[in-house]
Amino acid sequence: MGTRLVVVSTRLPLTLQKTEAGRWVTEKSSGGLASAMNPLLRKTGGIWIGWSGDTGEDDTEERRAVLQDWARKEHSFAIDLPADVASGFYEGYANQTLWPVFHYFVSHLRFDAKGWEAYVQANRIFCGAVVEQYQPGDMIWVHDYQLLLLPQMLREALPDATIGFFLHIPFPSSEVFPVLPRREELLRGLMGADLLAFQTYGHLQQFRSSLLRVLGIESRVAEIPVGGRAIRLEALPIGIAPEEYTEPLARDQTTARYYSEWAARYTGRKVLLAVDRLDYTKGVPERLRAYARLLRPETGLKEKVVLIQIAVPTRERIDTYQDLRSEVNQLVGEINGQFATPDWTPVVYINRSIEREELVALYKLADICWVGPLRDGMNLVSKEYVACKGDGEGVLVLSEFAGAAAEMGEALLINPFDEEQTAAVVARALTMDDQERRDRMRALHGRVTRNNVFRWGNRFLVALEEAASARARYADTRPRRLRMEEIQEAYVRANRRLLILDYEGTLVPVADLPQEAAPPAVVLRILAALASNPKNSVALVSGRRDSDMDRWFGNIEGLWLFAEHGAELKRPGSSWEALRSPIPADWKSSVMPILEHFVDRTPGSFVEERKYSLVWHHRLSEPEFAAWLANELVSMLEAMLAETDFRAVRGPNIVEVKPVWANKVEAFQLVQAAQAQADFLFAAGDDRTDEDLFERMPDSAWTVHVGPGSTRAAFVAPDIGSVRRLLALLANAA
Ligand code: UDP
Repeated sequence: MGTRLVVVSTRLPLTLQKTEAGRWVTEKSSGGLASAMNPLLRKTGGIWIGWSGDTGEDDTEERRAVLQDWARKEHSFAIDLPADVASGFYEGYANQTLWPVFHYFVSHLRFDAKGWEAYVQANRIFCGAVVEQYQPGDMIWVHDYQLLLLPQMLREALPDATIGFFLHIPFPSSEVFPVLPRREELLRGLMGADLLAFQTYGHLQQFRSSLLRVLGIESRVAEIPVGGRAIRLEALPIGIAPEEYTEPLARDQTTARYYSEWAARYTGRKVLLAVDRLDYTKGVPERLRAYARLLRPETGLKEKVVLIQIAVPTRERIDTYQDLRSEVNQLVGEINGQFATPDWTPVVYINRSIEREELVALYKLADICWVGPLRDGMNLVSKEYVACKGDGEGVLVLSEFAGAAAEMGEALLINPFDEEQTAAVVARALTMDDQERRDRMRALHGRVTRNNVFRWGNRFLVALEEAASARARYADTRPRRLRMEEIQEAYVRANRRLLILDYEGTLVPVADLPQEAAPPAVVLRILAALASNPKNSVALVSGRRDSDMDRWFGNIEGLWLFAEHGAELKRPGSSWEALRSPIPADWKSSVMPILEHFVDRTPGSFVEERKYSLVWHHRLSEPEFAAWLANELVSMLEAMLAETDFRAVRGPNIVEVKPVWANKVEAFQLVQAAQAQADFLFAAGDDRTDEDLFERMPDSAWTVHVGPGSTRAAFVAPDIGSVRRLLALLANAA
């Protein structure tokens, strides 16, 4: 890994603090992310870009010196955010809109347009800072939900940059994600990345399904095709740096002192440990209520257990968090008030953050670690606890709604919403026999140690490097962008020209119903001008019926028309002829019942009958379900039609059953027979049938693919508008 890593996250591993005396000092935080990124940054000579935590208003020399120190010694580049941007971004859209929705707390969603504006603005400020530091060849790694717009902003500013994104929190179900105001912008914001990685395969699948529902983008399990490249998708569960917990356990004096003191104090009692930020996603009240059940007389656990609950304050400026704090205070008070005895307090409640030395001593002490989030991207506490249990002496009780549950099958899983079941599982954990306890914990310990955060970081960077080099390779072999002047010159030089044009997706947008597919005047003018030139043979190929084609183009003299993909032909000045006859009359009666069965199963879908083809439309149906059924339908029909002249093919929101001989290659050959010795061959189209034609045309032909996706065409036109502009240029030339 020779290239430099540029890490971008909301916060840096350093925070700027103003002391009471008005001095600026640096506070270092040692989160799991910092432990993962630091070795990678050292190895690659990389840098970290993030928010200083401050507005930058107090721009004194002393403050500047601190930040210069960060840049020089820590390779950390701080961004300041104006106060209103910071609050709208951080307390606003990121933590009151995205955070609750991504964790399924739709009822906690708060949205205002100002918060959104600030979110966009903050992402732009981050983008500017990255662009300023960027050197060609850098790998940019963007972290988390606060920066969802950054990948696309970066792609626009730095088209060749290598850009990866990791989402630390869950990606919600596609039933929930669409409630988000500005959902389209969020998804498009991610589309600039080369790699998008999630904590679990489940989150990845939810993302794909939201992408289909919200933007109509179909993806494969491992990639999303976008505009001539592919975004790679990965599920990469984050780990911890185990030594950060095992080292103090093995060597630190303070840790040892804490441990022996507490071990003595709690002799004869089982210690249940819970460590959470005081966030509503963590299930703290649910745990306390389940615990109260555990203390009821019939369990016999009274005075035999103690729950140590660490609740680290977080986001205290947001109302919901204050409400939660009051609720937890009250519950703790109630439980202790109801159950305590002069020498036993059932809940030890610590509502502040504690030092690492204390934390690992608690991990070692705890007989059970009770991890009960209602929803969590991963949950590192569960892994830290396991890391401290090399001897196998502990039980992990883990919510099935934490990402960690996907990897930690030997934990005792709970549904934290079910307080009765949770209490029963904790009771089972308390009585588990020694052998089972050790077997489970050793299996967990091995995995947590192996799948550590360093491995995670390396896997991400390897995947990112591969994704970026695939993009670069593709860029090398990619057809050229349309060069209008070049084509125009060849057109002008030529004496006999043949132009074959696809209709929908090429000259007009794809429509579901025939009445929506009518050509605008500008298209008619272009076609008429081209067709009237005596040197030209111009053919238009459409999937529509002959009657539609007649109605739309019947007045244009000199134009060749192919209806139903080439099943029928109308030569200039003559009437419609079928390319094959007779057609076996019974094919529709065998296919129709199958299509009707699919209509019954798929609300919103319908069948359109044409002369030579049948079309199942599903644009108005639930997209994922319909896409799945469309595949099923195609494979069913493939088997059924194998021995016939008919084929089933998927198109945009349709499945079409049509004769094999109705195709653009045959259409092209027919026109060519009439326009022998053409010295200018031109074809434009957007779909699979056009690709067959491009492949069959001679190398000297001007073949043009319209829109995103890979192609065999020599040229790419980004959209319908540019095809029209090109044709207008030709129509007006010479
Ligand atoms: N932690 C902390 N201070 C404390 C207690 C815990 O910094 O007083 C750490 C803990 O060791 C863990 C992190 O906070 O690394 C919590 O991570 P987790 O993934 O469990 O939840 P998050 O807070 O990221 O939602």
